[in-house]
Amino acid sequence: MMNRKPNCTDINEPGLLHIDQAKKAIFDALPVLQDTQQIPIEQAKGRCLSESIISPLQVPGHTNSAVDGYAIRSSDLPSDKLETRLTIQATVLAGQLYTEPCQPGHCIHIMTGAAMPLDLDTVIMQEHCQITQDAILIDARHKKGQNVRQAGEDIQLGDTILPEGKLLCPADIGLLASLAITEIKVKRKLRIAIASTGNEIYSIASVAAEGGLYDSNRYSLLAALDRSDIEIINLGIIRDNETDLLKCFNEAAGYADIIISTGGVSVGEADYTKAVLKDSGDINFWKVAMKPGRPIAFGKIKQAVFFGLPGNPVAVLVTLYQLVLPALERMLGITDSPIAPLLKARSLEPIRKKTGRTEIQRGIVSQIATGELQVKTTGKQGSGILSSISMANAFIILEHERDSIKKGDWVDVQLFSGLF
Ligand code: AMP
Ligand code: MG
Repeated sequence: MMNRKPNCTDINEPGLLHIDQAKKAIFDALPVLQDTQQIPIEQAKGRCLSESIISPLQVPGHTNSAVDGYAIRSSDLPSDKLETRLTIQATVLAGQLYTEPCQPGHCIHIMTGAAMPLDLDTVIMQEHCQITQDAILIDARHKKGQNVRQAGEDIQLGDTILPEGKLLCPADIGLLASLAITEIKVKRKLRIAIASTGNEIYSIASVAAEGGLYDSNRYSLLAALDRSDIEIINLGIIRDNETDLLKCFNEAAGYADIIISTGGVSVGEADYTKAVLKDSGDINFWKVAMKPGRPIAFGKIKQAVFFGLPGNPVAVLVTLYQLVLPALERMLGITDSPIAPLLKARSLEPIRKKTGRTEIQRGIVSQIATGELQVKTTGKQGSGILSSISMANAFIILEHERDSIKKGDWVDVQLFSGLF
């Protein structure tokens, strides 16, 4: 057999890091952000709660009617095949508190949300009784307690309604408002500095010289990290030159929690990032057994966490979603794992894959009538083909140990979009 040097198509070479090892190493090294800030609930969607919220009230505050109808005593409900006639004593609108006792043989006309009058425990829907001018006739189909919302049935006084670490969703904001909580404590925003590196990379505001290309990575990152719990520091494009890189990264490390650069971490000749970072901080250069996204740098520059992502546009987004995003959520102290879960889908086509690395392909997932998910790839999967993500609605995650997939095999997919 020929003796040859390892190259980047070798997947069984020593020193390759399993994607789970890379994730673990990242997790183990991350500091958890401690700083908090007090903000109004209107600004809290997508922020990480940094206190547990204990309810100061019960919700609903009063036992109330769930429908428009007639509040009665359940003891007045007729038995089988009989009917009862009850005289209408008064009408209570939502927001009114009716304190008169209800006379025997009477009922009270009540609107949705109005507090139940004393001693009445059941509501007959308007549509379910015969109404005459001053009375109602009800039959035997009703049950004691129906159409009544009990005080505290949603939230009890002293309940923990939201745990520390929750990433706040619209319902959470509504819950806080229902308790008249106007401000809450959240983690401050993570400050993330992003930079593109490379002599061939041109700003989209300029005209690229021959042989150059436009900087798409920074824009992918800007869009992917456009979240209410992140503040972006845009470092622009840095040339492959030691002085510029060092100056820029060192400055950014003074105020950013995280620095993310793209390009310049592979074994190419002009991979200055690597050379520069060797002397600045504590950076590891990994060859991760994943495709795309093999070369990755991770470590620290001063106090800032550094991610050196590969330059290829697809690899940037794949490594961002698979490695960086879970790390960010951990740094923020988010405990309710909002990242898209893995689902099973049937592959509509064979997919070639080598064992010994995790492959993250881009797919289009659809659902058939039985509820089963199916997936096909978006075609060419080269790590420079950004349209392969743009056309996709999910990642297809093919595990490390797995080899080629046959048509009809189950594969793991991760949908790009959730509801919130
Ligand atoms: P590198 O990792 O620096 O060797 O870059 C790998 C590939 O990604 C090269 O073809 C680069 O031209 C391309 N690339 C690097 N940075 C960017 C960027 N910011 N936008 C678009 N493509 C890039
Ligand atoms: Mg480069």
